Amino acid sequence: MELTILGSGGSTTTPRPGCDCRVCREARIKGIPYARSGPSMFIRDLNLLCDTPEEIATQLNRERIGCVESILYTHWHPDHTFGMRIVERMYKFWLDMFVNQENPKKKVKVYALHDVMDDLMSMGYRGGSFLKYYQRSNLIETIGLEDAEEVRINSFKITPFEVQTTYNPSTVFLIEEKGKRVAYAPCDVKPFPKTTRLRNLDLLIIGSFHLEGALKNGIAIPSGNPLRKELFTLKEIRELGTQLVARKTVVTHIEEEWNRTYDEYKDLEKEQRVTFAYDGMHIKL
Ligand SMILES: [Zn+2]
Ligand SMILES: [Zn+2]
Repeated sequence: MELTILGSGGSTTTPRPGCDCRVCREARIKGIPYARSGPSMFIRDLNLLCDTPEEIATQLNRERIGCVESILYTHWHPDHTFGMRIVERMYKFWLDMFVNQENPKKKVKVYALHDVMDDLMSMGYRGGSFLKYYQRSNLIETIGLEDAEEVRINSFKITPFEVQTTYNPSTVFLIEEKGKRVAYAPCDVKPFPKTTRLRNLDLLIIGSFHLEGALKNGIAIPSGNPLRKELFTLKEIRELGTQLVARKTVVTHIEEEWNRTYDEYKDLEKEQRVTFAYDGMHIKL
């Protein structure tokens, strides 16, 4: 199994436009891995994307990915979905449509839990839903999934587990192939699903975290603050990794507001015994 972290940023990406902090300044000069774009992952063997942040087209170009066959959505939040127009940017050919009267040649399969799909379907303008428009245009086929329902794509088995957060449903995807087991849980995954089916992992890729101590502008998250209900500390992520019997944990969805440079995350890795993702990180299992 070959995975690529296309984007390791969170809902705030680095550099943040207009921000003159030292982290953003360095990222602007040095680029990747100091710069972090929106949260997304690609499974090479399946041409499958997990989520489509705003920067998805740039991410695909950067990694020389020329084909997307499927998209899994974890939840509706803008940092995970506002690049959904990628299906149109890749596969809608105006000249074929209007001159030769031809439909798009490719339909991308879009998978999400039913509740998440309802959220996605409600995104649009007063004339209707964006995804319904893509359906009508023969650009996508949508597939709603039950909680814990396995989907088989080629030699892979993919299982979504629903997470009920305070505001919306989100998803942890279990991805299995040839005895390897990966959980992709980039955002809004606290409380983590209790199921034993997510135990015994080769890799846990997880977001929904914050750092302790002084963050951007010296602000720290006080105990009892609502953010602590939504986000894990690194200690909690380590404990979760142990509980799940995960052989390796990669932390992603790294916010600009945590105010750490790529080099500082490298130092934190030694101290915290986790690995931090970066844009373009390739993982082979
Ligand atoms: Zn900044
Ligand atoms: Zn997010």
